[in-house]
Amino acid sequence: MLNAISVDIEDWFQVGAFETVIARDSWDTRESRVARNSEAVLALFAEADVRATFFILGWVAERHPSLIRRIAEAGHEIASHGYDHARVFTLDAKRFEQDLNKTRKILEDASGQKVTGYRAPSFSIDRRTPWAHPILAEQGYAYSSSVVPIAHDHYGWQGTPRFAWRPVKGSELIELPVTTAILGGRRVAAGGGGFFRVLPYGFSRWAIRQVNRAEGRPAVFYFHPWEVDPQQPRVGHAPLRSRFRHYTGLARMADKLRGLVQDFRWGRMDLVAHREAARAEDLYLPDPDLSAADIAA
Ligand SMILES: [Zn+2]
Repeated sequence: MLNAISVDIEDWFQVGAFETVIARDSWDTRESRVARNSEAVLALFAEADVRATFFILGWVAERHPSLIRRIAEAGHEIASHGYDHARVFTLDAKRFEQDLNKTRKILEDASGQKVTGYRAPSFSIDRRTPWAHPILAEQGYAYSSSVVPIAHDHYGWQGTPRFAWRPVKGSELIELPVTTAILGGRRVAAGGGGFFRVLPYGFSRWAIRQVNRAEGRPAVFYFHPWEVDPQQPRVGHAPLRSRFRHYTGLARMADKLRGLVQDFRWGRMDLVAHREAARAEDLYLPDPDLSAADIAA
C-alpha cells in the first residue's frame, strides 16, 4: 500500500496559530529558518529513499528559489499552498483565483515542474467556499488536499468523505483528505500536524495500519519544516493553547518521522491521487438537497 506524505512549506512565523500576534507586514523582518529546516526534511527523505509532495507558499518560493529547485531535483512533487497563507474562506472567488495564479507561476518558474496539486492554508476549504473546488477544476488542478472531514475549532468540513472524492461535476478533480481514523465510533484526526507531535507515535502507527489493512485505503500524512526545529524563536505573547500546539514535541519530531517513514511505504500525492481516481466517489457540494448530516459516516 502506497501512502502519501506531504510537507507544507512555510516559516515558523507564518502559521495559522500565530496569525493574531504576528503581523503579516512584519514577516520580512523575522529570522527565516524555512530553507535550513526544509534541507533537514530533504535529508530525512533521502535517507529513507522517499519521494514526497511539498505544498509551498508562493511567498517562500519567491525568496528561496534555489530551495524550490533542489526539492524538485530530488524527485519530489512541487505543489501549491497559496501565496501568503490567507485562508480560503477569507477570500472571495476572484481573489482566490488570483492567489492561485500568482503562486503557480512562481512555483513553476522556480522548479520547472508543472503544478497540479493544491493544499489550502489551514485546510480552509469548507462549506463557506462553494466556489473553491470549481475554480481548482477550471484551472486544471488534478487534486486538492484541503478538506479535513471532521469538526475542529480552526478547520473542518464535517460529514465530507474520509477518502478520495470528486467535488465538481464533469471534472476529474479529486479531493484527497488528510487521514482520519475511527476511534470509538468517532472520526479522529490521524494524518499529522499537532496530533502527531503531541500523541505517542504508537497512535499514528495504529491509525495508519487500520486505514491500510482494515479499510484498504492509503493514508495521507502532512507535517511542516518548523516542526523539526526545536531551536526556533519562541512567540511568548501568543495564546497558551497556540503555544502548546506549536511547541509540544518538537525535540522528538525528527525521530518520530524516521520511524514513520520506515514503518510504511510513502510516495507523492499526485501518484496516490492518480491511484485513488478509480475509487473516488462523486459528491457534488453544495447540493441543496444534501446536508452534511445525510452523508456523515
Ligand atoms: Zn500551512
